[in-house]
Amino acid sequence: APVKRAADTIAAIATAPGRGGIGVVRVSGSNLGSLALALAGSDPVARRATLATIRAADGSAIDSALVLYFPAPASFTGDDVIEIHGHGGPVVLQLVLGRCLELGARLAEPGEFTRRAFENGKIDLAQAEAVADLIDAATASAAKSAMRSLQGEFSQEIHRLVDELTELRALTEATLDFPDEEIDFLQAADAFGRLDRLRQRLASVFARAQQGRLLQGGIAVVLIGQPNVGKSSLLNRLAGDDLAIVTPIAGTTRDAVRSSLQIEGVPLHVIDTAGLRETSDEVERIGIERSWREIERADLAVLLVDAQHGIGEAERAILARLPASLPRLFVFNKIDLTGLPAGRAVLPASVPGADLAAAGTCLQLSAKSGEGIELLRAELLRLAGWQSGDDVFIARERHLGALREAAAHIDAAQAETQRLELFAEELRLAQRALGSITGEVSADELLGEIFGRFCIGK
Ligand code: GDP
Ligand code: ZN
Repeated sequence: APVKRAADTIAAIATAPGRGGIGVVRVSGSNLGSLALALAGSDPVARRATLATIRAADGSAIDSALVLYFPAPASFTGDDVIEIHGHGGPVVLQLVLGRCLELGARLAEPGEFTRRAFENGKIDLAQAEAVADLIDAATASAAKSAMRSLQGEFSQEIHRLVDELTELRALTEATLDFPDEEIDFLQAADAFGRLDRLRQRLASVFARAQQGRLLQGGIAVVLIGQPNVGKSSLLNRLAGDDLAIVTPIAGTTRDAVRSSLQIEGVPLHVIDTAGLRETSDEVERIGIERSWREIERADLAVLLVDAQHGIGEAERAILARLPASLPRLFVFNKIDLTGLPAGRAVLPASVPGADLAAAGTCLQLSAKSGEGIELLRAELLRLAGWQSGDDVFIARERHLGALREAAAHIDAAQAETQRLELFAEELRLAQRALGSITGEVSADELLGEIFGRFCIGK
């Protein structure tokens, strides 16, 4: 076995900032037995809670706390870990943390505990990311799918694909090494048939990961609509059914208003573009440009109009600037005032904007009466590509990119079955792309980028 390096001692407050009944300071390092003794005042029993008075250097009491000691390797990080469960106030936690620093620890960097768990082989990279995704989950469905990834479901799928590729590569190498052999190892093992089935499994993993990406990041919806067309009413109506919280955060008056809600457990981030008007104010203009950059990355555009008036010039201008590939949903609201039926609609050419609405799905509804809202919810999910909440594992754009890359190399391999050197090389590249998901091959800067986004203490 490789000789494990001695880890320096890191410490951080592990619980969220603010006040709570309990707050936790976590410490990780090598040979922390004496530090545990110094903190607890007596030798703590491994994995048992010890009630202790944490004392300052001068002997004065800082806090009364439960001290837990997890000797390596049976700990979260794989190194020795001490957890001090004290009172959850910011000042008292700082004092306890300060004491740990006095006793030789240094302040942990963001994500450093999880990074150590990864480096010590306790979890792989996809699982480490799932730790952050579980903590950041915006809905119960997102949390459950993060848990599925954390428990290794996603990683196991990847390992199965990697193992299969490894075998195919070995068969290819054997065939290359013994060209005069009577048997063709690849033919004998049905290698090409296996590669074809692997390609199909990869596609199904990709589909599940794509759903997980939606749960992780949510669906970004751009809401276009003039004042008084019913945007707030519609958001409340959408949120109300799920008892989700609508949180309009007017970051500043210059920023687009954002609301977060959920539909069937899928987070929906709605950016209200009501503030995107022409302006000569330089500061306001910068805010508006920032909104546009977000809009250009959105998953879906919803244009809300008053069914009595149709689409006007301001909406036309915004629509014209949206990326052509962005799916559009046109919603004609307030049908209770017009007598139009609820549901999918094809507008008569006489309605202003009917030409534009023809380029997307068009719904008629009433935010006030609720008629047509169920269909809207279903359409929003459908247009964003959501299919089901079952067996989804949380995933990120990074994972999708790696899966796409692996699929491209497998496609390339399937086109090179006559030139085995190239075939083998494509298999190797596919395997490498998959390995980057679980972190078997990952550059230091990638790790820095992933763990740097954690908060301190994770
Ligand atoms: P916003 O400015 O686009 O956010 O619009 P609001 O949601 O604040 O609605 C503006 C006005 O239109 C309010 O008086 C709402 O009650 C009304 N309203 C919104 N939706 C409907 C609807 O479907 N039918 C009717 N009759 N009134 C509506
Ligand atoms: Zn409003």
